[in-house]
Amino acid sequence: MTFCTRFAPSPTGPLHLGHAFSAITAYDMAMAASGIFHLRIDDIDQSRSRPAWEAQIFDDLHWLGLNWLTPVLRQSERLPRYRDGLLRLWDMGLLYPCSCTRADIRAAASAPQEGVALHGPDGLIYPGTCRPATPPVGPMPTDSALRLDMARALDRLSTPPTFTETGEGPNGETGLITSQNMAQTVGDVVLARREMGASYHLSVVIDDADQRITHVIRGQDLFEATQIHVLLQGLLALPSPLYHHHGLIRDETGKRLAKRDDARAIATYRSEGASPDDIRRMIGL
Ligand code: GLU
Repeated sequence: MTFCTRFAPSPTGPLHLGHAFSAITAYDMAMAASGIFHLRIDDIDQSRSRPAWEAQIFDDLHWLGLNWLTPVLRQSERLPRYRDGLLRLWDMGLLYPCSCTRADIRAAASAPQEGVALHGPDGLIYPGTCRPATPPVGPMPTDSALRLDMARALDRLSTPPTFTETGEGPNGETGLITSQNMAQTVGDVVLARREMGASYHLSVVIDDADQRITHVIRGQDLFEATQIHVLLQGLLALPSPLYHHHGLIRDETGKRLAKRDDARAIATYRSEGASPDDIRRMIGL
């Protein structure tokens, strides 16, 4: 099988050194394996995505010496594809509409029972306010958020979600990673947002399958989300790629770089006269 990987930035700000590390790591691994490297634009959140940031991403990555296959896949153009996935899960009785606001969830989750995790990969674990006792019937609603009934979803799988980690999670996790108790530690994640159609978790899983990604190479900040992705692959009968999570580039205070760190934007270093090799040196590649 041809090695196939991707770099999937969201065009919501400038690429910084952390993005460069992720993109170059994935690119170098693909080239070393005579494989394929895709650039994918994760612009599912149209309220924050901007064409100007996308243009800057293309420009910065070309300047760094990266090449990718065209056409570039954009999530904003694939909403019907994500809807197919949602419909399948709806028909399996695994989704339910949720009208809770963030404030509702905070209020309901503020009285935790002893021994119950408060936070999962998506923030506060959903307390189950809108979860129905039996799966909803009728057509899938399009005007509300849809959550995955995690306990019911896990029941559909014959084995707990498991993936192969060839890099490392934030606590050194590597090799075969099996998730237990996701109903308690992850909870009912959102798979469709009212304003977006699909959430990151659903779109990334469908995109990786459609692009035949064999190796997902990305930062450790997404390690905890991987169990959700593998669960969705199981439910939708999609193949699971191998996962390689890498360490994060941090600033002097140990904080990981974020989009708003314009000071460390590739574009800033370029305008100050840095070369692509300087960037590689800065990030230890
Ligand atoms: N778009 C995501 C991000 O910028 C990355 C998604 C992924 O690699 O799975 O953090």
